[in-house]
Amino acid sequence: MAHDAAVDYRALLEAERASLQHQLEELGFGEEGKIEYDSNFADTSQVTAERGEAETLAVQLKEALQDVLKALRKLEDGTYGICERCGQPISPARLEAKPASAYCIECASVVRR
Ligand SMILES: [Zn+2]
Repeated sequence: MAHDAAVDYRALLEAERASLQHQLEELGFGEEGKIEYDSNFADTSQVTAERGEAETLAVQLKEALQDVLKALRKLEDGTYGICERCGQPISPARLEAKPASAYCIECASVVRR
């Protein structure tokens, strides 16, 4: 064995996309991100609070999903793995850990939301 196979980032991203979409569906959010609650559900404050938590989580999942979709588009363009801020290559170790990374490790600490 002279070389390990190159990391298949597309497979990693596709797996992450499937996982995020599954989590959104579990929360009751479909493809369009619309929430599907039973309208007969009593609108108690507890339900409202649970709905708020689910929506907060769904927003985070959707943001992560957008990052994954963007990374998949970059694979198509051939710009995958290039930091969006400084234009330097992102380290393979970072991409393996977080395949949707848009920034190198230094820039990520600067631009973090
Ligand atoms: Zn950078």
